[in-house]
Amino acid sequence: MDFQKLDELLANEPAYRAAQVWQWAARAAADYDAMTNLPAPLRERLAAELPFSTLTVESEQQSRDGTVKTLFRTHDGHPVEAVLMRYRDGRRSLCLSSQSGCPLTCTFCATGSMAFGRNLTASEIVDQALHFRRIEPVDHAVFMGMGEPMLNLDEVLAAARRLPDVGITPRRTTISTVGWMPGLTRFVDEVDGPIRLALSLHAADPKLRSRIMPVNDRYPLADVLAECRRYVVKRGRKVYVEYVMLAGVNDSPEQARELAKALGRDAFKVNLIPYNPTGLYDGSSREAIAGFKNVLDRARIPATVRLTRGRDIAAACGQLAAAPKPRAPKIHAPA
Ligand code: SAH
Repeated sequence: MDFQKLDELLANEPAYRAAQVWQWAARAAADYDAMTNLPAPLRERLAAELPFSTLTVESEQQSRDGTVKTLFRTHDGHPVEAVLMRYRDGRRSLCLSSQSGCPLTCTFCATGSMAFGRNLTASEIVDQALHFRRIEPVDHAVFMGMGEPMLNLDEVLAAARRLPDVGITPRRTTISTVGWMPGLTRFVDEVDGPIRLALSLHAADPKLRSRIMPVNDRYPLADVLAECRRYVVKRGRKVYVEYVMLAGVNDSPEQARELAKALGRDAFKVNLIPYNPTGLYDGSSREAIAGFKNVLDRARIPATVRLTRGRDIAAACGQLAAAPKPRAPKIHAPA
């Protein structure tokens, strides 16, 4: 729900009312009517004047592996996708979007090829989480959906601050970035909590990285890695490096050695991501991924291969790209 409007609506009520409403919403209340410690007339007023969510659900798909992908619309028509991932150990992880679309144009990512809409508000980000919380309890969140969180840092942090009430602690919250320096620097300087940082790296060689991630021309990798190391020193938590495996592009043993050299042993943990088809590339073979990991292992750089979820419903990493808004059916003039 729109927290700003909620505060305005409750201006003449006791100060604790907004917190009461939020606590109900965070614990999966279906609507205002469920909020039984609010006076009935107030519940009616809220129902009449403040939509329960800033987002409307347009469609929802469930993968064979249990992953759920939801397509939402903002009040002004922008598409937003978010994903609920269910793991066998019981973990329930949300993949949240910070923007509708993305202004960056990473060549392997479907979101980068759709039109950029706008930054989402904290309320719109929280409403993605609340939607899934109404399906079942959740305990992890990653800002790895549509958009670049560091381009919308204030709203992302405001949303992250509400997540503990929904069941997701800062320790279990991860913000992923391409290395957008202004936001990253502020994140390192200003954020005190133990929110995890992830870096989409994908190529240690500057020329190659610029080719597949144009943002690299603007903020060189060496500067970005230095900023990540500052985070590690300040927070005492390693930075997760995301590395999508593209056949014949960035997956050779030599490139693994280059990556190992750029990272060093102490500050990073590498997550190799099998490429989820979005058109332009082929994914690396299992052998190539194993060979790449082997080089990192020998360099004693912790590395894991990411479990792919939701690929059959295009809900996997890099596949979020909402369909264009359906048009009203055309009315044909009689022949
Ligand atoms: N803009 C931020 C947040 C999105 S995270 C960032 O890029 O970090 C989305 C993750 O999925 C990133 O690590 C991205 O590099 C990865 N990704 C993008 N396209 C992919 C694809 N086709 N297959 C696998 N991973 C992909």
